[in-house]
Amino acid sequence: MSEKPVSVITGGAGFLGSHLCDKLIENGHKVICLDNLITGNLENIAHLFGNENFRFIKYDVTEFIYVEGRVDNILHFASPASPIDYLKFPIQTLKVGSLGTHKALGLAKAKKARFLLASTSEVYGDPEIHPQPESYWGNVNPIGPRGVYDEAKRFAEAMTMAYHKYHKVSIRIIRIFNTYGPRMRLKDGRVVPNFIFQALKNMPITVYGKGEQTRSFGYVSDLVEGIYRLLLKNYYYPINLGNPRELKIIDFAKMIKNITKSKSKIIFKPLPKDDPQQRCPDITVAKKILGWSPKVPLEKGLTETIQYFKKIV
Ligand code: UDP
Repeated sequence: MSEKPVSVITGGAGFLGSHLCDKLIENGHKVICLDNLITGNLENIAHLFGNENFRFIKYDVTEFIYVEGRVDNILHFASPASPIDYLKFPIQTLKVGSLGTHKALGLAKAKKARFLLASTSEVYGDPEIHPQPESYWGNVNPIGPRGVYDEAKRFAEAMTMAYHKYHKVSIRIIRIFNTYGPRMRLKDGRVVPNFIFQALKNMPITVYGKGEQTRSFGYVSDLVEGIYRLLLKNYYYPINLGNPRELKIIDFAKMIKNITKSKSKIIFKPLPKDDPQQRCPDITVAKKILGWSPKVPLEKGLTETIQYFKKIV
């Protein structure tokens, strides 16, 4: 029997999932990556094919999950994750957050494995408390365009906690704030790829609303470090992971324009329905429990991300 821990990553061919595959393999794990590739991309994991510690299975995790042999960790990252993706795949988004989480938890129970849920800052909806601590219950419109994602993730948290309480599954829950970096999809509609693509092409940069809404952007290497630390800790409550540096979207547009030295104009488009007005993590818990705080400054992370996008535009 292999001495290496065996970790299953659902959504392992996605942006975050693929970085997590790398991180776990670097740290001596055997990784089994499951992905149905509706928003994941084989190119994100192409470099891992041929690695004896990596296995890819094209699979829809809303169906019963069978994995042979020992499993030590299950990291449930499968889900469409950008507003245009969950508008395009609303039912799949609801199913993977609900049925997919149930199946992944069932596998964790059967294998006596740890289970880590990728939850989201979207559980806070359009928050009335700022910055958002984990103790805030959120302000979500269940039937709005974001409801399919927000409510699926809220259900996923409830299901995860229920498996912990009633089946004694060892769980971890992270609430991921806006994260960016290489392997984001150029066309996923999120602000980072949109602005970088537009700036690199000298096309108009599309700010929604007046750009007064805020976000805080965390670099992917910081995020996966936080996830890895949590995996090794016995802490069973949600933890925010994100970068507390908060920016207005209009200022973010100017920043991208400057870094890329673009000739793009900044233009204004209607604000999508239920677009949260402000979002910033309170990371007190992550600092205390994980000894974690983000290390990569926004300018540096953006420079790396722009390099990546330059290769693929
Ligand atoms: N946004 C924008 N222009 C774009 C794409 C997004 O102004 O081309 C805004 C969007 O309205 C939101 C913020 O940028 O206020 C972040 O959007 P994103 O889709 O990245 O994720 P969200 O944080 O809203 O889930």
